[in-house]
Amino acid sequence: MSGRSFLQIPGPTNIPDRVLRAMDRPVIDHRSPEFAQLTEDARVGLRKVFGTAEGSPMLYPASGTGATEAAFVNVFRPGDRVLSYNYGLFSGGMGNIARKFGYEVDEVPLRWGQAVAAEDVERRLKSDTSTNPYRAVLICHNETSTGVTVDLEAIHGAMAASGHEALFVVDTVSSLASIPFRMDEWGVDVVICGSQKGLMLPPGLGILGVSRRALEVAAKGGGSPRHFWDWEPILRENRWGLFPYTPATLMLFGLREALRMLVDEEGLENVYARHRRLADAVRAAVRGWGLSAVCEDPACASNTITAVRTPEGVDSNVFLKHARERYELSLGGGIGQLSGHAFRIGHLGSLNELEVLGTLGGIELAFNDLGIEVDMGSGLLAAQRAFSQTGAPQRQPEPALAAD
Ligand code: PLP
Repeated sequence: MSGRSFLQIPGPTNIPDRVLRAMDRPVIDHRSPEFAQLTEDARVGLRKVFGTAEGSPMLYPASGTGATEAAFVNVFRPGDRVLSYNYGLFSGGMGNIARKFGYEVDEVPLRWGQAVAAEDVERRLKSDTSTNPYRAVLICHNETSTGVTVDLEAIHGAMAASGHEALFVVDTVSSLASIPFRMDEWGVDVVICGSQKGLMLPPGLGILGVSRRALEVAAKGGGSPRHFWDWEPILRENRWGLFPYTPATLMLFGLREALRMLVDEEGLENVYARHRRLADAVRAAVRGWGLSAVCEDPACASNTITAVRTPEGVDSNVFLKHARERYELSLGGGIGQLSGHAFRIGHLGSLNELEVLGTLGGIELAFNDLGIEVDMGSGLLAAQRAFSQTGAPQRQPEPALAAD
């Protein structure tokens, strides 16, 4: 098919040409001064994205799942208790991973579509009188399977009000660099992320942000047996711009370029505002179609992903297959208990208004082809109105690829 295909899954996301060009180069010596500078630039940029003055970024040739494992094995001892919530595949996944390492997981089941209530966190921490108190609260900031965002500021407030010393461990795989996140302000001890969503890179980097408190826990024997994931050698080697393993050399060139675009050029607040504007239009389209979002409370609706329930009797997997085969439009499927009942629109990363309209137009065509009773144009019009009401942001001229 001519033209480009539409990748609107909730990550991996589309990669800007500039980032692709930055990675299209010969591999360099990862023990050279040039590479040391690259490491430093990536660490400085990541700190800004995390919103931390002195937190330590950790980069692994891995994915978000690897980063989760890295977070856990550095700060939890087998037998440690953690508080977690299950409100989708990835929040539930945090508990599953923790159980595999022999940590004791107190998991609170919620409906898929709900968010974590700060009062519940406060109540559970206040009533934690165990001789083995919670080592951490595990929260997935943006539940990719349902399109629900948790209010981390409120959870931080609840944790502080409880007086409990639990660490705050947060999965930001589908929120970082797209939805406001402030590591220092919200007292987050370990930030878990991957390269392939808001950071506009290919899959392949597992990324952590680690607070001083978490580093101390790890250094004082707080973790589990570990080698590859161990923070101590990474910190030691990073001081010289090196890694204790072979780093993903070319990905780091891409990361530096993406950080320039997000932090130095567009600016993080504008990046967040753009995601909000695109998400508002997608939500308007869903309402225009007369369909409902999986997210129960509109105040918790994600600015990166919208999970949409398909009408009664419509198998979302059939719809997804048709959209992909007929229009080269890839959308996310309903996962876990939502398989067959929902589809997900990814609206994060390198994305603009017209790409969102193209995606919504493709969805309407696919609905129509399959005889799904949704008025053609109803979502598109609602989204166009939403865009025209919010107005357009000032576009930055794209600078030439920096010489590095
Ligand atoms: N956490 C969240 C919120 C995710 O969305 C994902 C993947 O989509 C993961 C964790 C797992 O990350 P990865 O697939 O990079 O291992």
